[in-house]
Amino acid sequence: MNPNVTIGDHSPMYVDGQVIDWCKEMLGFPATAGGLLVSGATMANLTALTVARFKVLEPLKEQGVFGMPGPMVAYGSSETHACVSKAVQVLGLGAEGFCILPVDAHYRIRPNDLREKIRSDRAQGKIPFCIVANAGTVNTGAIDPLQELWEIAREENLWLHIDGAFGAMAKLTPAFAESLKVIERADSLAFDLHKWLYMPYEVGCVLIRDAALQRRTFASAANYLLAHDRGLAGGPETISNKGIELSRGFKALKVWMSLKEHGIDKYRRQISRNIAQAMYLGELIRKSPELELLADVSMNIVCYRYTPHQLPSPDRNEFDDLNEFDNLNAFNKELLMQLHESGKAAPSYTLLNGQYAIRAAITNHRTRLADMDILVEATIEIGRRLIGRKLTH
Ligand SMILES: *Cc1c(COP(=O)(O)O)cnc(C)c1O
Repeated sequence: MNPNVTIGDHSPMYVDGQVIDWCKEMLGFPATAGGLLVSGATMANLTALTVARFKVLEPLKEQGVFGMPGPMVAYGSSETHACVSKAVQVLGLGAEGFCILPVDAHYRIRPNDLREKIRSDRAQGKIPFCIVANAGTVNTGAIDPLQELWEIAREENLWLHIDGAFGAMAKLTPAFAESLKVIERADSLAFDLHKWLYMPYEVGCVLIRDAALQRRTFASAANYLLAHDRGLAGGPETISNKGIELSRGFKALKVWMSLKEHGIDKYRRQISRNIAQAMYLGELIRKSPELELLADVSMNIVCYRYTPHQLPSPDRNEFDDLNEFDNLNAFNKELLMQLHESGKAAPSYTLLNGQYAIRAAITNHRTRLADMDILVEATIEIGRRLIGRKLTH
């Protein structure tokens, strides 16, 4: 009851370890890799970047050099989740410590830009240390060119971290097994179990290929945490040696029970179904002249908007001047709020190239294809009503 899953010889410690082993197996990390359950991908990214930074600092420490040897830089695309930039700042590397590169038309980083930037930064005395790749960007689900990023990381001797918060789970499906295979060769991976593995909040995971380095990054020799040979102070290694937190709840239990109960094949089928639902929604939107798809549907995220300008109406010029909503962004924002208030659907939202997008990220095991029809019908219904409201003015 109420265990502190950090230290000691008690069963939750073993359940936690078992869950980490299963996570490594699921994602194709070697059994020797390190891992840690954390609150979510934000903490997982921070933990991984801390180890990546330590890899540069450790040899200097041995030479008696303490502190940062120069401006250290991690690289990622403009579609990288904001928590990565936050993590870099928490690590003391400043806002410039995360170099943000623009994306291509499919919201993926451009490897050549990255290569050039790393070289010019080195020439200026900066210390590149890490590439942060996206396996499923938060906005659109885009996957960075992982193989090329892995090659750049090897050529440039940089840490390759992959943020696969939800997208890493697509690796379980036959459709993505190949395109996400590079995950197995990353130095570290962050992902959530509370997103696309349908677990209750909160639980995320970080896997780190070099378990010994992870340990050297975080282990401390505090007298009150030393392992004993026997008794309650024995057992598996103190988990605070693997990350930032000391006291931890038993979040491993819900993961252990869910995986035991359902088995990995059920997750595989369910994730495949969510992807098919997103593809179906994308098709519905493509077919509707009133709706516009704002990004490729590459995984489980669909970004779209209502575009009254596209109405095939003889009076279409009437819609050109939306004076009540000064632009399509304001129009779609209002539409989304009404969609939420209608109780019919609760998509999220984002901005893509400055365009307000209604964003459906499908990670629910109860979602059905029919829900996609409801979402599209409700969007069109509200969109038309909003135009009508404008026209009566
Ligand atoms: C959700 C998400 C995060 C943040 O994860 P939390 O579990 O909310 O901390 C980071 N990166 C990506 C790509 C995400 O989708």
